[in-house]
Amino acid sequence: MSLWRYRDRLPVEPLVTLEEGDTPLVPAPRLSERTGCDVWLKLEGANPTGSFKDRGMTVAVSAAIREGAEAVICASTGNTAASAAAYAARAGLRGVVIVPEGKIAIGKLAQALMHGARVIALRGNFDDALRIVRQLAQKHPIELVNSVNPYRIEGQKTAAFEVCDELGGAPDALAIPVGNAGNITSWRRGFEEYGESPALYGFQAAGAAPLVLGHPVESPETVASAIRIGNPARWEEAMEAVTASRGRIAAVGDEQILSAYHLLASGEGVFCEPASAASVAGLLAHGLPAVEGDPEPESVVCVLTGHGLKDPDTALGKAPAVIGCDPDLAAVERIAFAD
Ligand SMILES: *Cc1c(COP(=O)(O)O)cnc(C)c1O
Repeated sequence: MSLWRYRDRLPVEPLVTLEEGDTPLVPAPRLSERTGCDVWLKLEGANPTGSFKDRGMTVAVSAAIREGAEAVICASTGNTAASAAAYAARAGLRGVVIVPEGKIAIGKLAQALMHGARVIALRGNFDDALRIVRQLAQKHPIELVNSVNPYRIEGQKTAAFEVCDELGGAPDALAIPVGNAGNITSWRRGFEEYGESPALYGFQAAGAAPLVLGHPVESPETVASAIRIGNPARWEEAMEAVTASRGRIAAVGDEQILSAYHLLASGEGVFCEPASAASVAGLLAHGLPAVEGDPEPESVVCVLTGHGLKDPDTALGKAPAVIGCDPDLAAVERIAFAD
């Protein structure tokens, strides 16, 4: 099964697919106990290249093929690059990805290079990269596959369909990290098409929180590299999604993000990347306060947008040291069972 089971609600035929979507929705007992509401985790890291970007990419690259494109291009904080590179390879198209130099997680870089994309490291940030690819796509016969591409949104909305089908309706609330704001826009569209309207809680990193501050951030900074974006392309749609669903946009600090990241891995057995943990960090830091007069949310789905293996550097940075030992039974026993 893949997201293409919803093909009657998608605008193209599956001309290129790696069987994306249909990701696990797992209950989170520890988080549920801590928050007093039913918490579910949508594991988008289980997509073919390890992030939700594949949902949009299968649709966007299918549309590019239909339109006769020979190449695809994107600006990326990493996962869009990895995904675009994979789908370009699969479709036999040239892939060009522009990433902020030194600012993308190592696993994502390895993916983009392995899939044969031309990887350009820009001495600038994501917002600079997006501005340049937008100009390039106007000058050349090349398809832009950032989430400004409407087909990306169409593909990504299927995550909301899956959750509603599985739970028999929408949860009361959805918690989701927000960077360029394509994904929150997609989930909103998916719920709307399904006839549902759960409260959408979008969380940004405190050092990259333009939607919270109400103005673009010149030099966004956060450990959560996937959401290190200072001027989201889908700004208005994100705010509209949050307002119309009676949710909110809030910020979480890097310490809160990393603590949720560790809690998910060690307490729930789920290893996601730091940006993904912003959804859970937001839930823990802010709760899900109902708008005055609305009932308290009793169930929440946290979107875990990407896999933890994408960013081993951040994982190992704070992990306890491994313990060296001679090949001696007693010595191993002593260490293994010490308090
Ligand atoms: C792209 C991405 C985000 C942010 O999604 P937007 O659509 O840009 O808001 C969050 N987490 C991960 C892991 C991502 O790759």
